[in-house]
Amino acid sequence: MSLTMPPSVPPAATAFAGSSVVLPDCGNIEAVKSVALGCVACKLNETRQHVVFSDGNPQAGLMFIGEGPGAQEDETGIPFVGRAGQLLTKIIESVGLRRQQDTYICNVVKCRPPGNRVPTDVEMQQCYPYLHAQIHVLKPRIIVLVGATALRGVLGNRSPISKVRGQWLETPFPAPNGGTAKAMAIFHPSYLLRNPSPNEGTPKWLTWQDIQAIKRCYDED
Ligand code: SF4
Repeated sequence: MSLTMPPSVPPAATAFAGSSVVLPDCGNIEAVKSVALGCVACKLNETRQHVVFSDGNPQAGLMFIGEGPGAQEDETGIPFVGRAGQLLTKIIESVGLRRQQDTYICNVVKCRPPGNRVPTDVEMQQCYPYLHAQIHVLKPRIIVLVGATALRGVLGNRSPISKVRGQWLETPFPAPNGGTAKAMAIFHPSYLLRNPSPNEGTPKWLTWQDIQAIKRCYDED
């Protein structure tokens, strides 16, 4: 089944094709979170310990979006806290950004897929209203898509990360300055853990180039 992306600007009722989730139309991210914490809209609710909504600063102009929670994220209710998350934090800090103050971190799906499998298109579609609200209420200037599933779930782009990383991608999402948010896809840190060489041209080295480009853009506006 293909993933059909909902329109970037939702109707007033804030209901989405392909999802049974209906959100309060109040522009309040805490109200959205409270709905998510009780969500049973897809089967992932049956095996989760915690709904993993977000971490960091909702006012940050820089949003990192990953695929979905893993085991440690499910245990703690916080995204990107396992080994891959710790590496993501190091990547963020390597350019002088502070995870808690300068970034907002979330995932395409808010509940852990069993065995860390990739979430299905149906699960991503069911969960999309929460991510849509996070993007539209918080209006980040820059969106970092962490891995191929985030690239597909947010922009409907099925390209391999190796083909699109390092490029600024257009999004339909409104930014506070009246324009639209920019996005860049980066390798998922779990991939970097499996490919740890820092030599020039390797995924780790390329990610270092990407986070520096992201920081330059962050500093520009
Ligand atoms: S993954 Fe999303 S849609 Fe599915 S139960 Fe969790 S919060 Fe609800």
